Amino acid sequence: MIQEESFRDTIATVNEEGRRNRIFPKRVTGRFALARKYVAWILLVFLFTAPWMTVGGQPLLLLDVLGRKFVLFGQIFRPADTFIFVLLMISGVLSVIVFTVAFGRIFCGWICPQTIFLEQVFRKIEYWIEGDRNRQIKLQKQPWNFEKIWKKSTKNILFYLVSFAVSNVFLQYLVGVDRWKLYLQEGPMQHFGTFSAIVIFSLVFYLVFAWFREQACIVVCPYGRLQGVMLDRNSLVIIYDWIRGEPRGKGKRKEQDEKGDCVDCGLCVQVCPTGIDIRNGTQLECVNCTACIDVCDSVMHKIGKQEGLIRFDSQNGVEQGRKTIFTTRVYAYIGILAVLLSIVTSLLLTRSEVETIVLRMPGKLFERVEGDIENIYNFTLINKTDEAKSLNFELLDQNGAIETTGGSIIALSPEEIKHGALIIRIPEQALSAEKTELKIGVYNSSNEVVEVVKTNFLGPRKRKKR
Ligand code: SF4
Ligand code: SF4
Repeated sequence: MIQEESFRDTIATVNEEGRRNRIFPKRVTGRFALARKYVAWILLVFLFTAPWMTVGGQPLLLLDVLGRKFVLFGQIFRPADTFIFVLLMISGVLSVIVFTVAFGRIFCGWICPQTIFLEQVFRKIEYWIEGDRNRQIKLQKQPWNFEKIWKKSTKNILFYLVSFAVSNVFLQYLVGVDRWKLYLQEGPMQHFGTFSAIVIFSLVFYLVFAWFREQACIVVCPYGRLQGVMLDRNSLVIIYDWIRGEPRGKGKRKEQDEKGDCVDCGLCVQVCPTGIDIRNGTQLECVNCTACIDVCDSVMHKIGKQEGLIRFDSQNGVEQGRKTIFTTRVYAYIGILAVLLSIVTSLLLTRSEVETIVLRMPGKLFERVEGDIENIYNFTLINKTDEAKSLNFELLDQNGAIETTGGSIIALSPEEIKHGALIIRIPEQALSAEKTELKIGVYNSSNEVVEVVKTNFLGPRKRKKR
């Protein structure tokens, strides 16, 4: 490995005066560029079409934060399901960790929305209007003439329009397509707050992709900062084979030439969207975009050398030719992930259609009514499905009567939340203690128990027999 480490003292996007060093990555073609393009377009098509897709009458994905309703693949989640949601999030984070330990930062280069939008949408528009790297640099340096004004303004208008379109897609995820269409029909003045939020969000989105760009990956993204603890010598990363490449040097190669395979053309630096030189070794700024692999392969092809001077490999792979991806650490993470996923799956499978909360009415103990003891409770019933439900309460394991305010059958519309009071009476002689644990069954119209809730029933203090 190259020992000079001074490159780690600075970042390529900040110059010596502390000013922004704009990166103008060279356009790259090759097998990885093509594969990334296909992956990106599949993900973009999914992003734009998912809000319009439904499963069993429910959206495929809905994140209605204000309405406190989340829909994942047609399954409705309410705040009562926060536990499952949190476990799902932890499983997601752990999957990314497992994936990173084994395969490096592939997520950044291939799946991360920041990279996909920057490289496959905004950068493409930029290449289309301003041309490749050299023409962009020339345009940047030239004075503000007609060409520069129309190119820069067209590009920025298009950038804002794309940002506005993407903001609308995010709004569709938040409020659902039907409500979004209603906003459109009724116009921005009827929904001025939402419209202003969209305009502001579009502006932020535009600034991220027109100006902030790779800084998001280098200085903001916490995932990038964690690479140091997640990667080890067996992790697959994009790596320069310094054993084969060094000593680097320009000029023609002969078989007996003592120079390495790197012809020091600098193309791998010119294509890098974060401006780093991968020949210095694995760096936090590398988003695994594979552009340097493609360009170096084309150079190797031209000079008649084997491709793969820069490639997906591990440090041990380069040094010893050994590829051990599934180490003990990876297996340990996979084990934890499997446990978490089985818990989440069983929670999802056993999730009740109705959520019931029964709490004692504050400030009330018990009352004697015609030889019975009476306790009063508040209840909340949440219908988590998109079907209407008729429910009633019954005491389980205990003789007594149960009454609900507004009639014994409680009608709930799809996704409705209903509150009410519950009166329970139990004959005094049936109570053996001051506090009795009660099980209350919630029955549906087919007389099936949909949920069982537990609560305490208070009675008079029992005198000890002498
Ligand atoms: S592209 Fe390949 S040959 Fe050119 S400088 Fe980079 S590593 Fe060396
Ligand atoms: S070093 Fe290579 S893979 Fe990493 S960001 Fe730069 S071009 Fe992409």
